[in-house]
Amino acid sequence: MFDQIRAQLPGWVNESRALAVHGRVAAYIPELAKAPADALGITIMGRGGETATEGSHDLKFTMQSISKVFTLLLALMDQGEEGVFAKVGMEPSGDDFNSMLKLELVEPGIPFNPLINAGAIAVTSLIKGETPARKIERILRFFRDAAGTNELRINEAVSRSEAATAHRNRSLAYFLKDNEVLGEEIDVEELLQVYFDHCSVEIDCAQLARMALVLAYGGVDPLTGRELVPRRYVRIAKSFMVTCGMYNASGEFAIRAGIPAKSGVSGGIMAIVPGQYGIGVVGPALGRQGNSTAGVHLLERMSAAFDWSLF
Ligand code: GLU
Repeated sequence: MFDQIRAQLPGWVNESRALAVHGRVAAYIPELAKAPADALGITIMGRGGETATEGSHDLKFTMQSISKVFTLLLALMDQGEEGVFAKVGMEPSGDDFNSMLKLELVEPGIPFNPLINAGAIAVTSLIKGETPARKIERILRFFRDAAGTNELRINEAVSRSEAATAHRNRSLAYFLKDNEVLGEEIDVEELLQVYFDHCSVEIDCAQLARMALVLAYGGVDPLTGRELVPRRYVRIAKSFMVTCGMYNASGEFAIRAGIPAKSGVSGGIMAIVPGQYGIGVVGPALGRQGNSTAGVHLLERMSAAFDWSLF
């Protein structure tokens, strides 16, 4: 299969890259606006660590919302399902990722799911650690273990840029605090700093593919045999990726590609072909729904060609 993928990939990447002109680089976090709009890169990794790569796969980008999948897993390991689902729901919201709508409507004021910003901020508050520094240290440790490298770092410029312009996330977080979704001990500003930092972890396609591979193999890193996450929690994360991972285009992506995926505003997409591959994609130009236009096209193309759909 890798030979076939390698043979087809250059043509598909060229074809999909052309779609970048229909997208725009996110600018609401000013630092993200510097990303190259016409780039497209991909790494596909198999169980032995073998890869197929193409395009700008070396481009560094920040994980943004993709990090939410892993903070959810860490929170599940820290607090169990009951602890997490007391604070966040299990349903797609149908609203934008940073929406303030509907927060009041879910009993008792909890966010719809852990992948929208309000839900992700609530999830981050559940991660254990005596201090914010300790929390981010634990998060980084977990991300690095999953990526199989100690090289993952926080892009401080992106984190600062987000902190300086995060009026909406700040409003969401204070609203959660007022609704007692955030515990009494939680300092909202400190919590937001941890959230901005984990969104700002810098990665490339191969590192993201390796993180995806761990999920593709049910939480066990196939390269080391080490269990990083209990299988049951990976199943929860994959379910959220299918139902809410691609913002309000999750339904369309489920129909067209049919694989668990999570995208971020930096143009990254992490995708999983369960039991087979971990995939990291970057294409900074985003379509109307906030997903990489070229990246989505490429994944849909590959899924159709190799019959990856779970459905
Ligand atoms: N850090 C970004 C934010 O909170 C993440 C958004 C995203 O990638 O969807 O606005």
